[in-house]
Amino acid sequence: MLVADGARADSLFAAMDAGHLPSLARLRAEGSAHTVTSVFPTVTGPAYTPFLMGLHPGRAGVPGIRWWDRARTATRWPWYARSYVGIEALRADTDLTTDHRTLFEYSDRPLGAFTPHGRGLKPDQRIGADLAFGVRMGWTHFRGDLPAWLRLDRELGVRVAERIRRDRPDVAFLAHPGIDKLSHQLGHEAPAVLDAMRTVDLTAARIREDAERAGRWEETEIWVVSDHGHSRVTHHEDLAGVLATWGLGVIAHPWIFTGGRDAAVMVSGNAMAHIYLELGRRERPWWPALRGKWQWLVEHLLARESVDLLMLPRAPGEVEVHGRGRGMALVTRDASGRYGYRTETGDPLGLRAALDASGAVAGFTAGESYDATIGTDHPDSLVQIIALADAPRSGEMLLSAARDWDYRAKYEPIPHVSAHGALHREHMLVPLVMSRPATGVPRRTVDVLPSALRAMGRAVPSGLDGVAFR
Ligand SMILES: [Zn+2]
Repeated sequence: MLVADGARADSLFAAMDAGHLPSLARLRAEGSAHTVTSVFPTVTGPAYTPFLMGLHPGRAGVPGIRWWDRARTATRWPWYARSYVGIEALRADTDLTTDHRTLFEYSDRPLGAFTPHGRGLKPDQRIGADLAFGVRMGWTHFRGDLPAWLRLDRELGVRVAERIRRDRPDVAFLAHPGIDKLSHQLGHEAPAVLDAMRTVDLTAARIREDAERAGRWEETEIWVVSDHGHSRVTHHEDLAGVLATWGLGVIAHPWIFTGGRDAAVMVSGNAMAHIYLELGRRERPWWPALRGKWQWLVEHLLARESVDLLMLPRAPGEVEVHGRGRGMALVTRDASGRYGYRTETGDPLGLRAALDASGAVAGFTAGESYDATIGTDHPDSLVQIIALADAPRSGEMLLSAARDWDYRAKYEPIPHVSAHGALHREHMLVPLVMSRPATGVPRRTVDVLPSALRAMGRAVPSGLDGVAFR
């Protein structure tokens, strides 16, 4: 499984159509290619839990690349905040739920390379985690040295192909970070991004040639997926700073604003944010109880151009969704797992075509919810919003940024002209290319793990968020 980190479905398929990625095009011709939805938040790390566990990120225990630990069980005094940007990336595995296994834990002989989650990999089954390589990666990141990034990305592919040839793992999982890194700095349409796509193509070609030469291609499958898309950013909203100017004491790991602890702002990707309120409480507060004290904050945020969607969890399975300038609707999931949507003061998710006479949809399965939303600006919105809002580690306010905006923090090592994290199409729609045809219909990245288990001849456990397409 090759993760073309940050590849948008339309960009990758266009490059294949234009003849730039011959190995991927050949996989598609012999197998299949699909556009599927990623998960909200569309950010590296959390958006890998579908491939590795078959779970939405919130259920896997990682609701964002940064989150605040209300329960105070995973983090420490004084801030109780988690950020996987930097050294705390080492905590990404211990934060995962132990209720479900990872792809590596389902395997007898796994191999993993440059994966943000590696639970189940022994040290010698992990590539790219060794110190020298890590330090070089770090330097390259902070210097913003793009040719070096491309070289490292290629080297990663060469090393993985060598190890597959030598060790014959039953599953190999490789993330190629180049497309994402270059897109952030140069824009997703930049020519250098095409070079990073070629790296993925070269790795697939190398693995295939080796397997053919060894007579193992018939028993080998290559799947290429992505965790999120990308889109242009022209405006940055320093969300933590904005809340501070409204008189709130803000925790925004790793930057702490002085003056009390009223709210924690945890940005992902950077076009998504969790805002946590009532930080002294260990139990999660829900919106009906917060309204009196915090309604002003809802109105202030909805007045910001940076906001596309503001989501307020009202109870398990019940979320108030505000679209800036588009009114409010209620998204629900009942005890039998059926989804609903009721327009209250507007139709923020644009489901007009599916609404009944009373302005609602009711009793939708996850599949029907997908079909009703896939053509909208927020693909798979009903399922994705409930999945994140229900996560115990999520905030009291969930923000998805408007186009051209992100919630970039005050300080970033390199400039960003492109971002991801939000629930809109450019971030949510990702490619899936497989060397064999799907027998079912691939819809979501959470479907990848159960399907991979089938392809490996293993039983699919119950309780996963995805459905096998094999
Ligand atoms: Zn990124």
